[in-house]
Amino acid sequence: IEVEHYTREEKDEMIHNNMEYVLFSWLKQKGINPLNIDYAKGVYLYDYDGKRHIDFSSGLMNVNIGHGNQRVTEAVMRQMQKVSYITPSCMTKVRGDLGKKLAEICPGKLNKAFFTLCGSTTIENAIKVARLHTGRHKILGRYQSYHGSTYGVMSAGGDPRKLSADSQQAPNFVHFDIPTAYRWPYGEEALLKEAVLHLERVIAFEGPENIAGILLEGESGSSGCLKYPVGYLKKVREICDKHGILLIIDEVMSGFGRTGKWFGFQHHDIVPDMIGMAKGLTSGYIPFGCLMVTEEIAAKYDDVVLPLGLTYSAHPVACAAALEVLQIYEDENLIENAVKMGKYVELKVSEMQKKHPSIGEFRNTGLLGCIELVKNRETKEPMAPFNARPAEMAVMNQVAAKIKELGMYTFVRWNYIFVAPPLCVTTDEIDEGLDIISQAIAIAD
Ligand code: PLP
Repeated sequence: IEVEHYTREEKDEMIHNNMEYVLFSWLKQKGINPLNIDYAKGVYLYDYDGKRHIDFSSGLMNVNIGHGNQRVTEAVMRQMQKVSYITPSCMTKVRGDLGKKLAEICPGKLNKAFFTLCGSTTIENAIKVARLHTGRHKILGRYQSYHGSTYGVMSAGGDPRKLSADSQQAPNFVHFDIPTAYRWPYGEEALLKEAVLHLERVIAFEGPENIAGILLEGESGSSGCLKYPVGYLKKVREICDKHGILLIIDEVMSGFGRTGKWFGFQHHDIVPDMIGMAKGLTSGYIPFGCLMVTEEIAAKYDDVVLPLGLTYSAHPVACAAALEVLQIYEDENLIENAVKMGKYVELKVSEMQKKHPSIGEFRNTGLLGCIELVKNRETKEPMAPFNARPAEMAVMNQVAAKIKELGMYTFVRWNYIFVAPPLCVTTDEIDEGLDIISQAIAIAD
């Protein structure tokens, strides 16, 4: 890989001085001590001191094809040479080609693409479209879900980090709970019943005639890969149909092969009314997002402008990156590999579980996985609680520090360690990564 290497002085300048000009620098957060990354290739990041770090969270679960794929660089350059920006009111060939490709990938009548900038702007627009389409105002979302950080979606999500961060919640978002099997003592059947009854009660109290949409992740991601009860999404689909509520599935993290299928909801045998996409759409090479909606929803806007304007909507360079990335998924059989490697991870972690009493549960779908650490396997008391105070994070911080010291980059949050490497990962690389995690978990045992 051809990269421009900095001198030691330049590196020091960058790390110690220029960072002062960054508005929000992790450097100033005690104990975080960020990596300074020089370049990246495949599943590896290389820091300014030449140390290699295996990337076990694919950046932020977005670099699905792996780092440094020159095909994307070249596609981006070719597009930039032609036209690097054009307003969304003009058409480009790449935009149409990408829309067509996504319509082919998506099931049913999900054939109309609205291109956005990232995950948050995608879900913001899903909410707007749901309200415009139904004439209703409320959006229902899951506690412990994450849909982004802009004002509306921050309120739509039920992530405790965001709920507590913002005392000015946007109105008309309602949260409901979906219990998960790990801490449910009464069996699968009762779990499904309870989850469905609870949702029906919330809908009855809020008034179905007021509810525009139910927003759910295709497979839950950053809140800890919390699984849906078996059959739950099918029931939600039925409930939505009964009340004329739109089902919006957020595939920002679970999309594009991450779970071993194009989309996470495809594990649940449903077809939503809208799909939110970002991250894996361009594999993080360029910020981008897309909202796919059904032909029925889009029909209204055949002769009326959809009032969702964004300056960078359908950015041609991002469209070119996405088209190339989608081709790479197919050419390199990455989705098939995610299935195989996901199974391999399951096997290896189940072996690790015998050795480490602090592994409570490993939850994954394909390569979207996380290891949950507990203080005690019987009581399932988490190693650090949701919304943990700094003192409660002491052990997890040590685990995270060890992971980093041993040459791994991954997401460690609350009592979770994420296992979500790029989809091009090999069994040797998984062994290397899990060995690091195993050494770190030993601290918690
Ligand atoms: N939706 C889900 C499910 C996500 O996981 C994320 C980001 O992690 C988002 C939305 C927000 O995406 P972005 O950070 O690109 O705005």
